[in-house]
Amino acid sequence: MSQVKKLVIATGNKNKLIEIKSLLEGLPLEIKTAADYPGFEMPEEDRATFRGNAAKKAEAVATFSGEMALADDSGLEVEALDGRPGVLSARYAGEEGNDAANNRLLLEELRDFPPEKRAARFIAVIAIVLPGKESYFAHGTCPGRIAEEPRGSGGFGYDPLFIYEPTGQTFAEMSAAKKNTISHRARALRQARELLKHLLSR
Ligand code: IMP
Repeated sequence: MSQVKKLVIATGNKNKLIEIKSLLEGLPLEIKTAADYPGFEMPEEDRATFRGNAAKKAEAVATFSGEMALADDSGLEVEALDGRPGVLSARYAGEEGNDAANNRLLLEELRDFPPEKRAARFIAVIAIVLPGKESYFAHGTCPGRIAEEPRGSGGFGYDPLFIYEPTGQTFAEMSAAKKNTISHRARALRQARELLKHLLSR
């Protein structure tokens, strides 16, 4: 595990990048981002699964850069809504990244559901792609329940509505440090770290 290898992270999201970097610390990796490769354009996330979208992004970056690439895709699945918003989590209410509208729509759709029928889970899938070679996947889930109104001011996306059962807090009521030990993304990243360790030792 002595030779330092490049790993290109396929995300434009600063917070994700910080989280990914901190969870990969200590590995013999020179971390790059897609922004280090001028002319690269991130492909559209139009696949039907988290895995498909993560693979599509990582493959595109690996092909363009010629280096090992890592991408993630994540979202919220609500049991009573047959898994919606799912892969459409970022644009559930129509406009990409409009968290307030997405949260309003989710509350509206769950209006008639009592607390015990509001089970949900966050999912994250990470794809690691070696250019021209195999792809590897890491998965993380975090089970919880959708609140009846938003609580807390931290985090992003559906955090104010997502209750983490063991503490009863929403993700938005937790410190970032706490969320980053239990979240779907943290779980997937810990698995990805083990995968990378193995790949780097070959
Ligand atoms: P993406 O992985 O960047 O495509 O994120 C998809 C969407 O899922 C985000 O825009 C959020 O709406 C939602 N999401 C994913 N992870 C989280 C999280 O940790 N908290 C809240 N919302 C999340």
